[in-house]
Amino acid sequence: MAESKQRIVMIPFMAQGHIIPFLALALQLQQRKDYMVTFVNTPLNIQELRSSLPQDSSIHLLEIPFNSSDYGLPPNTGNTDSLPYDLIATFLQSSLALKPVFRKLISDLVHESCCQPPLCIITDMFFSWCAEIAPEFGIFHAIFCGGGGYGFACFSSLWLNLPHRNTDSEEFTLPDFPEASKFHVTQLTELLRKTDGKDSISVFLRNMLVGWYNADRILMNTVEEIDKLGLMYFRKKIGRPVWPIGPALLSARTRARAGKETGIAPEVCKKWLDTKPLNSVLYISFGSQNTVSASNIMQLAMALVASGKNFIWVVRPPFGFDINSEFKAKEWLPEGYEERIKDSGRGLLVQKWAPQVEILSHRSVSAFLSHCGWNSVLEALSCGVAIMGWPQAAEQFYNVKLLEEIGVCVEVGRGKTCEVRHDVLARKIELVMNETEKGIEMRRRVCEVRDMIKKAIKAEEGCKGSSAKAMDEFLNAALLMRKESNKMGTN
Ligand code: UDP
Repeated sequence: MAESKQRIVMIPFMAQGHIIPFLALALQLQQRKDYMVTFVNTPLNIQELRSSLPQDSSIHLLEIPFNSSDYGLPPNTGNTDSLPYDLIATFLQSSLALKPVFRKLISDLVHESCCQPPLCIITDMFFSWCAEIAPEFGIFHAIFCGGGGYGFACFSSLWLNLPHRNTDSEEFTLPDFPEASKFHVTQLTELLRKTDGKDSISVFLRNMLVGWYNADRILMNTVEEIDKLGLMYFRKKIGRPVWPIGPALLSARTRARAGKETGIAPEVCKKWLDTKPLNSVLYISFGSQNTVSASNIMQLAMALVASGKNFIWVVRPPFGFDINSEFKAKEWLPEGYEERIKDSGRGLLVQKWAPQVEILSHRSVSAFLSHCGWNSVLEALSCGVAIMGWPQAAEQFYNVKLLEEIGVCVEVGRGKTCEVRHDVLARKIELVMNETEKGIEMRRRVCEVRDMIKKAIKAEEGCKGSSAKAMDEFLNAALLMRKESNKMGTN
């Protein structure tokens, strides 16, 4: 039967923040009865995915070889999970090695005599090189950007317009953005502040972004109603449809099977949350790759006590240490902190990895102090949880800007080593979580946004939401291209 279905080949970059939305999208596509998905990745990720997929899933998993030691990376590096922060750029650049291997894989799939050639290839935003491969085989190619429209538009404009600011001024504007839209030098990563654009990672990122213009279409993990400006940027630049099909989110159930060891069992976490009053808990996490400085960890610890709020905090070693190593509470937290928190029952410290979606969807949680990676943002918004933004890298600074404009976020810090003071931070926590005018308004607004998202993904005929319609348009475009190339083949 599978042969009569249209095959869609998907390949994300090898990091949780990319694999998670790709897997969510694969599961969505798979639910449409006419499509089957082949999910391609390095052996390590494919093995992890084998245990995470629902039993009834028919997603076809395919490994492609990748020898990390060839690129100066630790042996058997298959994703960023246990990679030191300073090697992430090398890992990213080494992913170029997947290009010939992936080309061979597509060629094999096309020449398999028993099946139709793939209908479409969906690649990661970092794998725009596929725009050179897909046309060779007459296959429709879409890039799926797991980032948000606005954040990624800023990121894209920054890299494509180096040098982009007058170094004497702390403020700058970006071409293709409204004059009034001011950015600050603190919203740039260290590399963006320093680079003249000639170093290898800058060249890689620029080539990757230029490659976007050659893809047949762009899919974005966002929602039209909340991300108009960013979508407009890409539509204008690329001159082809850009389809917001988000949010592609993995359910807590799928994650629970994901084999990724959480620092706390989801049931234990839920039990703890069950004992807390409605909207009384702050959740704190900086995602899968980021952490803050040792002094900021100390300030945050004190702020949490001073605010008097309940909290769950995913603790990672400070910036400069291996973030995958054990968190040494005695060294990095105030003396006796762990014991006091435990005795008071007010806080949970979770090592390394928390069941984030379970936490955010619990009724006791009302705010999320986050680095504002786009998956975390979408997860919070979909659960109606207000955000306290502390961006660390990449496009996170601009995600926060968008979220503040929407009225669902207050920025509390910028970068890993900014100087955050505990008393200021405690006041911001109170501002967001207490019955202040700002807090009430933010919570009202984030529930409005949650409802907009629910509406956007409605798939029922007659009341289809914007994201569901965008997904239909994307699949129809791929089918049309297939029909036309079949016609040409028979003429
Ligand atoms: N995540 C999680 N538990 C953690 C940390 C992260 O489940 O303790 C998940 C989170 O729910 C999100 C992803 O990992 O889906 C992180 O992606 P995001 O884009 O937010 O940030 P990144 O890690 O890519 O910087």
